[in-house]
Amino acid sequence: MTVHYLPGAGFDSNIFLVTGNRPFLVDTGTGAQLDRTVAKISELGIAGGVDRIVLTHRHFDHVGGARKLAKRFSAEVMVHELDAQPLREGDSFQTFSEMFGVEMSPMEVSTFVEGDVLSTGEHDFEILHTPGHSAGSASLFDREKGLLICGDTVFVDGVGRWDLPSGNLKDLLRSVKKLMELEPVDLYPGHGPCAFGDARDQIAGALRYLGEA
Ligand SMILES: [Zn+2]
Ligand SMILES: [Zn+2]
Repeated sequence: MTVHYLPGAGFDSNIFLVTGNRPFLVDTGTGAQLDRTVAKISELGIAGGVDRIVLTHRHFDHVGGARKLAKRFSAEVMVHELDAQPLREGDSFQTFSEMFGVEMSPMEVSTFVEGDVLSTGEHDFEILHTPGHSAGSASLFDREKGLLICGDTVFVDGVGRWDLPSGNLKDLLRSVKKLMELEPVDLYPGHGPCAFGDARDQIAGALRYLGEA
C-alpha cells in the first residue's frame, strides 16, 4: 500500500490516492484538477479505478470534484455523518462553495462514524472523528504504519480555521490533541506539504503555536 500525494494547486485541497487491492481516493479538490487526478490513477495502472471517494469534510475545496469523479469511476462517496447533510442538500453556505463563486450541487453520499474501518485489502485505516474545523471533520489512521490523513484539522505549519460554519476552537484543540496522542509517523494534511517521520513533532508545534502545549 502506498499513499500517493497529489498536491493541491491554487485553492484546491491535496488529494491522496491510497493504493492496494481496493484503492480509494481521499478528497477531490475543487474539481479544477479533475483530469490530473484521473490521469494519475491510470498512470499508476489502477485499471479498475477507485470504488470509494472519502471526503475528510464538507468544504468545497475538498469536495468540488467528488460528483464528477464518482460518476467517472462509479464510486461511492463517503463522509462523516455530521458533514453529510450539507452535501446532500447542496448547501453553498455550509460547504463554503459561495466563497469560490460556485453553487454547490447536491450529491449522494454514504456516511461513516468514529471507529469505522476503511480497508485497502492490505491495510486498515481507522476513521477518527476530529471536529473543530467543521462538525463532521474526520481523519484516517493506519495504526500499523502510523500514517495519518487529517484533512484541515492540522497542517505542517499550523491548524485549520475554526471560524467557519459548524467549526469551533474548543473542539479543534481537542481533536488536534487526540491526533497527537496517536503518535503518528507520517502526516498527510489537506493543504501544504506532508511530514514524513516527524508527524507527532509537527502536531506538537501546531499546539505550541496555539499556546496549548
Ligand atoms: Zn481545505
Ligand atoms: Zn476545510
